[in-house]
This record gives sequence, structure tokens and C-alpha cells, in this order.
Amino acid sequence: MSLDQIKQRITRAVEAVAPPAAGIKTPPELIAVSKVQPDERVRAVLAQGHRCFGENRVQEAAQKWPHFRAEFSGIDLHLLGPLQSNKARQAMQLFDVIHSLDRPKLAAALARLAQELGQCPKLFIQVNTGSEPQKAGILNADCDAFIADCRALDLPIIGLMCIPPAEEEAGAHFQLLADMAARNGLLGLSMGMSADFELAIAHGATHIRVGSAIFGNRVPAAKQSPA
Ligand SMILES: *Cc1c(COP(=O)(O)O)cnc(C)c1O
Repeated sequence: MSLDQIKQRITRAVEAVAPPAAGIKTPPELIAVSKVQPDERVRAVLAQGHRCFGENRVQEAAQKWPHFRAEFSGIDLHLLGPLQSNKARQAMQLFDVIHSLDRPKLAAALARLAQELGQCPKLFIQVNTGSEPQKAGILNADCDAFIADCRALDLPIIGLMCIPPAEEEAGAHFQLLADMAARNGLLGLSMGMSADFELAIAHGATHIRVGSAIFGNRVPAAKQSPA
């Protein structure tokens, strides 16, 4: 699907939530998820003027994005995948936004590095809304306390992120995340992927993460070992 077609679907989804007559509602940020996509597909989307991209792995992003940044200005790069503490420094230098702050140890590492580097990417806290053992993220019951701890560390938390369980109705998870963000005074909601971004918009997503719908299918899953 073309970038323009995706944008039309976003516009329609936003209008469905807040009809134009009801006033302007800003569309969510469209993060084009370029992990494991060949460079020429990424360059084609850059050439259309898109500047907001997401990657899953620090190593892959470090190989890909410095040369795109030399070629195109204004790139906004988002880390979506799990971050190991020993890659935190590199991630902080490479990414504008990190969506995967998922544990106290990482919060402590980021806070230390923020002091040292004098800067910090904007941060989303990843919430494991389905309490899935194989998935990263703070458990729902721990979320309010973790947000408070991160704020005490002076971390620039802008919102919450989730990846709903594949076999459950995503809307309930999106709403849970929206409620958690609202009661903690957080405005950012990173939720919705190719299969469900319109539903996420209906629940108030501010950042949608769309990969295959823009770029086409990724290489076989066997090649995508975790970071
Ligand atoms: C890969 C990925 C996406 C994009 O998935 P699509 O289904 O291709 O849109 C979004 N968010 C995260 C965290 C991902 O890892």
C-alpha cells in the first residue's frame, strides 16, 4: 500500500473519532517501521518526504541510519524493540525517541547516561498489558509506581506503549493503555500496527507504528532473531 493510501486511511480514522465539524484533531504521528527492509524501499519513502521511522534493533539502525541522515535532513528516528542496558548509550545517541523503556534497571541506566551526555531521547514506557511471559514491558499493576519512579529520575517520559496479545481483541488493550496514561497525566499513546492502526486511533493513539502495510512484507521470520 502506498504512503498516500495509508495517510488517507489515517485521516478517515481521525475524522471518524472527531468529525471535522467538531474541530481540528491532530492526526497521530505515523512511524514507518523500516526494520529489515532493503535500503531502496526506505529511500523511496524518504524521497516522498516522509521523515519519521522506526527500527527494532540498535545494531541494524546504527548501520542504516547515519548514511540516510547524511542524505536527508530532519529524520526522526524511533527505537521500538527491546533495549539491552549495554546498548543504551549507543541508542541514546542514535534515536530521538525510545518506545521500549520496560524495566527499572534500564530506567536507572538511561538516567545515568542522560546526566553524562546532557541529553535524553523522549521516552515511552512499554506496558505488557496482556501479562505475557514472553513479552517485555511493565505489568499493569506496577505501571503507576514505575511512572512515578521514572519521573523522580527526571526522565522525559512522554507516554505509554503496548503490543496487545496476538490472539486477543486489541481494542480492550488500547483502552487499558489510554486509561493508564490519562490517570498519570501522560499524553502520548504509542499503539497500533499495520493490522489495527485504525482501531488504535479510535482509542486515542498519538503514535502508530506501521511497517508491512507501507513497505511490504519483511524477510522470513527466521531471520529476525531478537536484539
Ligand atoms: C515490527 C513492529 C511494528 C510494525 O509491524 P507491522 O505489522 O509490520 O506494521 C510495530 N511495532 C513494533 C514494536 C514492531 O516490532
